[in-house]
Amino acid sequence: MRLGNVECFIVSDGEWRMDGGAIFGVVPKVLWETIVPADELNRVPMALNCLLILSQGKRILVDTGFGRKVLAKEAGQLALQRQDGDLLDGLQRLGYGPKEIDIVINTHLHSDHCGGNTLDRGGTLKPAFSSAEYWIQRVEWAEACYPNERTRKTYLPENFRPLESAGQLRLLHGNTRVTAEVRCMATKGHSRGHQSVIIESDGETAIFLGDLAGRAVHLEHLAWTTAFDSEPFETIESKRAIRDWAIERNALLFFGHDVPMPSGRLLRSGDRFVVQNS
Ligand SMILES: [Zn+2]
Repeated sequence: MRLGNVECFIVSDGEWRMDGGAIFGVVPKVLWETIVPADELNRVPMALNCLLILSQGKRILVDTGFGRKVLAKEAGQLALQRQDGDLLDGLQRLGYGPKEIDIVINTHLHSDHCGGNTLDRGGTLKPAFSSAEYWIQRVEWAEACYPNERTRKTYLPENFRPLESAGQLRLLHGNTRVTAEVRCMATKGHSRGHQSVIIESDGETAIFLGDLAGRAVHLEHLAWTTAFDSEPFETIESKRAIRDWAIERNALLFFGHDVPMPSGRLLRSGDRFVVQNS
């Protein structure tokens, strides 16, 4: 996929299943199940989309999925499927080994977005991308290092602490430029330090939304937020701002967890918003 002078590729770390109630929060099942059907265990399919961005000589990877540390038992609970391989296999198919990634950006530190940050090498946890600097919002780092009873199961130290000991961590203080064409934008709500990644080149615009809107339907309906959102009213305001911004620029949208709609563009008709495949 080309956006102006930037090339980008959606790279998948597989597909899994999660409780529909967790994904749609307070939205009644009768509304969401017509859009995303649930299986017999009330689970809905979830993509694990990451994004490789090639901009001005930099190879930038946004999010790293669950990674290879997921044990067989956990993979069973998650119903994790990797028929086409995982993130590292996908990058290899594009011709990039892990050493060739310059920057890894985590939208946030929930385990489905940063599990692939690190690898177990002979009993020692090491950064999976040995030459990369990992860019994480300072607020998100603090939230992850000091979790509470609700966030402890998703903020797993093995996914981010080894970056610090390896000297490969870069903490960001809000909106930050990556290259002249790529920037991080703080989009809090799903988590306090959540960020999205924007590409702007030669009149074209795109945004990787992470879990600000994991699926297209989460952007179409501002009130549809996941049960995991730590600050759901902030999510709504972050989504409102991004929705208006995206309409103005006809921005290409990348959704982290949407299986049929990994990317699309937002259209407005009256007071309704619809994402169309693109
Ligand atoms: Zn997620």
